[in-house]
Amino acid sequence: MKILYIGACTHSGSTLLNMVLGAHPDIIAVGSLKKINRILAGETKCACGVNSLYDCEFWSRVDRALREQGVEGLGALNIRTKNRARFVEDNVALFSAIRAASGSDIIVDCSRKANRLRWLQQIPELDVIPVHLYKSPRNQASSWKRKGKHFFGYLTEYWGRNLSVMNACAENPASMRLSYEYFCEHTEDELRRLCAGIGVSYDERMLNAWAGQTIHTLGGNRRTKKEASSRIELRERQDLLSGFEYTWVQNLCAPLWNRLEARSSVTK
Ligand SMILES: [Zn+2]
Repeated sequence: MKILYIGACTHSGSTLLNMVLGAHPDIIAVGSLKKINRILAGETKCACGVNSLYDCEFWSRVDRALREQGVEGLGALNIRTKNRARFVEDNVALFSAIRAASGSDIIVDCSRKANRLRWLQQIPELDVIPVHLYKSPRNQASSWKRKGKHFFGYLTEYWGRNLSVMNACAENPASMRLSYEYFCEHTEDELRRLCAGIGVSYDERMLNAWAGQTIHTLGGNRRTKKEASSRIELRERQDLLSGFEYTWVQNLCAPLWNRLEARSSVTK
């Protein structure tokens, strides 16, 4: 069972990448799995729009598959526990149930955080392939400004998240790194590279038919999930940043960005 784990900052294009990967017939994309308990509690919904996860045709199948494994259903899982043995048991049970419900051996988990990646990588039953997705400092800061994040929040998350994901990926020779900007410009080339890394053949539905599919993704960007067109383009509004923000974000984040860019793509 392969787990494609997207490690990234918030608002870095991970919902788009999750959907594009999920358009491959051999891949099931479930979004931010770490949010499953919040979704069960009714705080947000599955992307298919039903009110409760138990009304969703996909997640109710996952629930049934869990019960067949002897687990008391989705609500009994604690996949974010700090207890290592329970973490292994509950995550393996959930991924196995997702595989049984979807018939797919490759699962995209878009939980983004490095700690979860690190723990998943240590589970022998799972073949984890991390994909580190990142934006340029200016584009990332523009996305965060649009969402109302504070300037110092940009700096700490850009450095903190990207460094921790980079370090977690360094432990795994199968890891891949993806520049959001380069992905938008050279989508097909980058998808072919990802498919080669995952070990599946390229499928053009990833490029042409990711929008408009019925998905059962948890969490993520609402606008991207409702996108009607599969066209991918860079839409960051850099004019949102003040001159001060623009200069300092660039100056303070460039050393890390340059390190990320140095090894990001074999097609560059
Ligand atoms: Zn659903």
